[in-house]
Amino acid sequence: MVEIIDGKARAAELRSEVAKAVKALDDRLSLIPGLAVVLVGDDPASQVYVRNKAKQTKEVGMHSLEFRFPETASQEELLHKVNELNEDPTVHGILVQLPLPKQINSHSVINAIDPKKDVDGFHLNNVGLLATGNPNLVPCTPLGCMDLLKKDGNDLSGLNAVVVGRSNIVGKPMGALLLAENCTVTIGHSKTENLPELCASADILIAAVGRPEMITEEWIKSGATIIDVGINRVENGEGKTKLVGDVNFNSAKKVAGAITPVPGGVGPMTIACLLKNTIQAACNISGIPFDFFEKR
Ligand code: NAP
Repeated sequence: MVEIIDGKARAAELRSEVAKAVKALDDRLSLIPGLAVVLVGDDPASQVYVRNKAKQTKEVGMHSLEFRFPETASQEELLHKVNELNEDPTVHGILVQLPLPKQINSHSVINAIDPKKDVDGFHLNNVGLLATGNPNLVPCTPLGCMDLLKKDGNDLSGLNAVVVGRSNIVGKPMGALLLAENCTVTIGHSKTENLPELCASADILIAAVGRPEMITEEWIKSGATIIDVGINRVENGEGKTKLVGDVNFNSAKKVAGAITPVPGGVGPMTIACLLKNTIQAACNISGIPFDFFEKR
């Protein structure tokens, strides 16, 4: 019987741990973590994501700040705002919603964020710390995937892990996290040969491709754990749309040992991990131990 990994339930649990940590920081130090989100333009998916972030940030008792800029905003305006937030002692986490419009150099803006407040984990300092085995603030989606993989204290040591996708925000940091757990890691991408055979060797298969239902049962080793990061909106055949992952869920669940659904798998974990990272940033900045969370 395949296990359906319930990311929605785990994310709710994590948010309640975050809420307890917020209360403890307030009681002990009168410290309320603040998360600032900067949004440029009107991309509908980004708007929804930012709205959900703000709602969940307030629900756990943190300060939520939001700064919106028009699609035509300049790089200087954005850098000015980032510098202002870097200096603001009530702000512990800064997130610049990607993608940014083409006149803005995303790399420069992300690297202008104070690395101590870089709750997305995209600043070069944090990328380097993860790559060298000393992770501090880690990108939220891979962090959420690891949390789901390590439920019940699972030991991943020695397992074959295949990550399909090599983006800076998912695939590469995911590979680094799996390596840190002593997995044997292979990262596949659009130029990889024999991708189905490679995937079929995986005890853990992470799909972060952005291709609807690309991975089917023939690509999956019997009993493997499948983490589907993909979020793709497709027609449902009745004139409406629905969300599907990069894995064909109904096909994959015939052979997998455990699998995350879409929606309700990795998706909810991303914002929960962002809130956790904000607590971590607040602790780092204030020089107090970050020990509020159950180890996973
Ligand atoms: P991305 O930057 O577009 O990267 C996609 C990766 O997949 C690239 O490395 C690309 O290879 C590879 N790829 C594309 N087509 C392929 C194919 N046919 N065969 C093998 N590899 C292929 O995407 P991303 O930002 O990592 O996101 C991936 C998916 O995760 C998307 O569906 C996105 O919506 C979703 N996502 C979900 C969350 C969440 O919270 N759950 C967060 C972030 C992203 P090349 O490098 O060779 O081009």
